[in-house]
Amino acid sequence: MGKIHVLPEHVANKIAAGEVVERPASVVKELLENSLDAGARRIRIHIEAGGKKLIQIADDGCGMVRDDAMLAFERHATSKIRDAEDLLNIATLGFRGEALPSIASVSRLRLETASNETSSQREPGTMIEIAGGRLLKVEEAGLPPGTSISVRDLFFNTPARKKFLRSESTELSHIASLVTHYALAHPDKHFELHSAANAMLIASPVQTHAERVYQVFGKEILDQLLPVAATLPLARAGLPEPPPWRRDDDYEAPVPGDLRVHGFVSRPEIQKLNRNSMFVFVNGRLVRDRQIQHALTEAYRNILPPTVYPVVLLFLDMPPAEVDANVHPSKVEVRFRQQAFVHDFVRDSVRATLMKARPVPQFTTEIHAQPTASPALSPNLHSQGLEAQAAAMSPFRDSPSTTLELCPPAVVPTIQRLAFDGAIEVEANAAVPVARGLEAVPLMNVDGCGGPIPAVAEPMNGDAPSLASLVPLGQLRDSFILAVDDSSLWIVDQHVAHERVLFERVLRQRAEAQVESQRLLMPLVIELTVSQSAIFTDISDELQRNGFEVEPFGTRTIAVKTAPAGIEACDVERMLHELLDEVDREHQVMNLEKVRTRIAASIACHAAIKVNMPLERNKMEWLLRELALTECPMTCPHGRPVVLRYSLKEIQKAFKRI
Ligand code: ADP
Ligand code: MG
Repeated sequence: MGKIHVLPEHVANKIAAGEVVERPASVVKELLENSLDAGARRIRIHIEAGGKKLIQIADDGCGMVRDDAMLAFERHATSKIRDAEDLLNIATLGFRGEALPSIASVSRLRLETASNETSSQREPGTMIEIAGGRLLKVEEAGLPPGTSISVRDLFFNTPARKKFLRSESTELSHIASLVTHYALAHPDKHFELHSAANAMLIASPVQTHAERVYQVFGKEILDQLLPVAATLPLARAGLPEPPPWRRDDDYEAPVPGDLRVHGFVSRPEIQKLNRNSMFVFVNGRLVRDRQIQHALTEAYRNILPPTVYPVVLLFLDMPPAEVDANVHPSKVEVRFRQQAFVHDFVRDSVRATLMKARPVPQFTTEIHAQPTASPALSPNLHSQGLEAQAAAMSPFRDSPSTTLELCPPAVVPTIQRLAFDGAIEVEANAAVPVARGLEAVPLMNVDGCGGPIPAVAEPMNGDAPSLASLVPLGQLRDSFILAVDDSSLWIVDQHVAHERVLFERVLRQRAEAQVESQRLLMPLVIELTVSQSAIFTDISDELQRNGFEVEPFGTRTIAVKTAPAGIEACDVERMLHELLDEVDREHQVMNLEKVRTRIAASIACHAAIKVNMPLERNKMEWLLRELALTECPMTCPHGRPVVLRYSLKEIQKAFKRI
């Protein structure tokens, strides 16, 4: 029985139209989504020449009978929706009936399909060949249930578009990233991606998303991620209902369902230079949504510096009626019925996860300190063929990761990570520069042979409570407090620790309109540049609420009479200059809340205990206690790490005691 029909014109007209085939990865996306919609449990993708020469995808889904296979290449032919009403309730990834005809019009396409219908008159399979949109061949063929589509010579008949394709390796990396992320979204399915003779990804079915992350990226990456899980009954958002006088006798109030978010976000010490490692799925669909991006930025506010990004793999699930997928031709944008509700829910759930974990950067050993490039959640493009395949097939193996070469980290300390360049960006692990600057690494090379000690891939635990039980031992160069608890050695950067304490205090006092200030002995006269004085006018109210009393003193000169408590007079001028410049640089994206945060961060930075300052024991104790009370003790307001921890286990390992 055929399932596919051509949508009536009035329905087709309601569909967001546009070009879906931009590059090989967009072909893969459409075909992959079709396989998932067909209920496939195994999907195998084969790529040649970055997809320019061949994209082949085979699934064991429901397949198609002959009539459907023919119809599938008509525009707006789909089995997934029937009328305009269905557009409001899309539960499948596809619904526009445009992908197959579009792809077939710009390539040489071959479809082999057989329906999995079990009725007695099960049809034999069908093979169809189309080139540049022209039907060349339709044949009956004995085939197992499922569908296999090969797309050769993409854009062979549209040279202008072909010219825009990037290098084979770039196109391949887009495909690899896409397939990897669909594999992450569907841990219960088997995915394979091969490029020429290389197995790039082989992921057999597993039960949980965490197991899939482990399978695809390895333990090291999994340890850098925090699981997020939250559910919110949508009833709390209220649902549109007809007014009581319009309700029939048998009217039933709509069942609102739940808004659910789960997945992973990275610990604050993981910092990416762009958004390439942020992946959000809404009802199984990979999307790029500004609202959610914004919610994530908000969740990481003052945990990550504003110019870096976390690693995010989030799955948002909600009733289909809550989300409109029909807003963008390639369905990468969606619209939520209750935008603000979804935004706040994502922000709060991620924020709560980050707060709960309150992790501290671990003391980094050389193996951790070295890499400057690391997987941006993209699979390894130089994978090891059969070895990788074997490793990937067993979900829990000992080697660190399929994405890394299969040697123990201590043997190949650094080069392995560099294999990721191209698709990957440089990573600034916040703990790294500090560990290097301290020359901590050689110190740990206690075996005297100068080689790196093996990395300890131990998960970093949330440890705020143990911060409170720290006993300070002393200072290193009057700058770093050394402290212990019963299971670790801690190194605390005294300046940033105090900065974090003050930052939260200023924000709190500001919210209660009780910022402490001090009167300067003499008004401080400061000259501003043109742009500084423009910004000053904009934010002078807020400055006043933060303890500044400032009066104009000539055209571009101001006189500061009062400043926030703790900032020395000689620092006030520098602080104001820096603050005004900073706000000026980010003027476009500033709102009041951000201005407030900037001011608090700036006050905290200038009022905090400096480095190279001897501290008495009771001062150190006080600082550690205060730090333990902060909401976010692990990073300073600019995103730098506050504490490093070296666990007893690592120390014992370094001394070869275990
Ligand atoms: P859409 O996915 O929007 O419906 P497509 O052009 O991608 O449109 O596919 C058209 C139709 O072809 C689908 O509705 C589906 O019925 C059928 N189809 C496509 N790919 C497959 C597949 N791998 N297995 C089974 N049916 C498929
Ligand atoms: Mg489709």
